[in-house]
Amino acid sequence: MNYKSTRNSAEVVSSAQAIARGISADGGLFVPEEIPQMSLEEIGELIEESYVQRAEIILSKFLTDFTMEELGYCVRSAYTAEKFDSDKIAELARLGEGTYLLELWHGPTCAFKDMALQLLPYLLTVSVKKTIADKEVVILVATSGDTGKAALEGFKDVPGTKILVFYPENGVSPMQKLQMTTQEGENVGVCAIKGNFDDAQTAVKAIFTDPKIGEQLMSRGMMFSSANSINWGRLVPQIVYYISSYCDLLANGDIELGEKVNIVVPTGNFGNILAAYYAKHMGLPVGKLICASNKNNILTDFINTGVYDKNRAFYTTSSPSMDILISSNLERLLYLLCGCDDAQLKQWYADLKESGKFTVSDEVKAKIQAEFSAGFCDEEETLQTIRTVFEQYSYVCDPHTAVGVKVYEDYKKATGDTTKTIIASTASPYKFTDTVIQAVSPETNPSDDFDDVSLLNILTGMPVPQEISGLDGKEVRFTRSVATGEMPQVVRELLSL
Ligand SMILES: *Cc1c(COP(=O)(O)O)cnc(C)c1O
Repeated sequence: MNYKSTRNSAEVVSSAQAIARGISADGGLFVPEEIPQMSLEEIGELIEESYVQRAEIILSKFLTDFTMEELGYCVRSAYTAEKFDSDKIAELARLGEGTYLLELWHGPTCAFKDMALQLLPYLLTVSVKKTIADKEVVILVATSGDTGKAALEGFKDVPGTKILVFYPENGVSPMQKLQMTTQEGENVGVCAIKGNFDDAQTAVKAIFTDPKIGEQLMSRGMMFSSANSINWGRLVPQIVYYISSYCDLLANGDIELGEKVNIVVPTGNFGNILAAYYAKHMGLPVGKLICASNKNNILTDFINTGVYDKNRAFYTTSSPSMDILISSNLERLLYLLCGCDDAQLKQWYADLKESGKFTVSDEVKAKIQAEFSAGFCDEEETLQTIRTVFEQYSYVCDPHTAVGVKVYEDYKKATGDTTKTIIASTASPYKFTDTVIQAVSPETNPSDDFDDVSLLNILTGMPVPQEISGLDGKEVRFTRSVATGEMPQVVRELLSL
């Protein structure tokens, strides 16, 4: 199976090339030429298999130029008992009748990004070997928090890779900062920058395209790559857990083979919900895909009106991983829905660049609304939802997951749809202790992050993930903070160029 660029359908590459390159030279994203199919019978057969085996089978349908040995090596290296605190890898919890939370945060950094970023380093190194010969891959990341840590853990000590992460000195939570500055591994580097996330991102992009650094890298047998969610290698691992959770519901007797389920996803860059869309179109019985946004509700407006308009205020919320105005992966959905019309896609994205907005045709809008429903949840409702979920079900959810729960409750009220539903739970509440404490115990004052961890444990009885408790007292390895202008120098030093 080949992949083509959303902005140039004539640009056709193998899956290994798509993963090694990350993004097409025309600025488009790589999508598979067709969506591989799975019959109900095939899905039913997966019930007997482990997560690793399910992943191997599902990935083999998309990554057809990988051998089964290569895929087996990748998934077995990624989804191990040392890295995930659940042997099921992703857990299902019940939230009342017919509602299930798919907990995607049992990996080493306690956020759902681990599900893809534990596997990506292996997919990427195998892809590079297959397509570009033996080069050492240098991953450069600018992060606002979660991605940087998940990428560091994923690439830590992976042979043939190095990873350098830049984060805004005052733009991440104390817990996120501690997670990064104490990072272990011989091939990792972490550096704070004086500036915000956009400054870090812009400087990283400039380093990527700096011809002098490029030459120096070449002469040392190295190449840059990206762990960003526009890489197909980050999207494809996410398809697995939707199919896998359906199999778990079957195995538990909660649903019958062929019974439809709805899927709710707290959404930012549109990657996670797009993976659910792919699972559905492979043959997984799915009814509605419900897109949940926080106060940055650009996707709610788009799905309801067909107008994508980023000329609006940007809000910093308690669910920061969804604070985003350009949802990159939406481009992949639009390409599929407009019949792979690359000229149309180019036009919409040119409009977005020029005027900050584009409008899809009524036909495309109707196709979107046939499959997706959308809603949003503001800051007060997020706190309220964490509180009521805790009171009603003794279940502690993080602010991102709470957004999903609230939008689903609204959807159910508005439509009367009682189809059984899977809600993606995207982070451990221990990553966002101040908000969760404020919700479950408004009279308590959260203090510094480590006291908050034990406080939340006392208030809720929820066990503290070992990955969080293990940070207490851990040696800080990376204390450097530089102006963005010094970033190229830092890269040279860390890579000994
Ligand atoms: C990244 C992230 C999201 C958003 O996922 P997208 O794939 O970008 O839509 C939601 N919740 C958490 C905790 C995240 O880290």
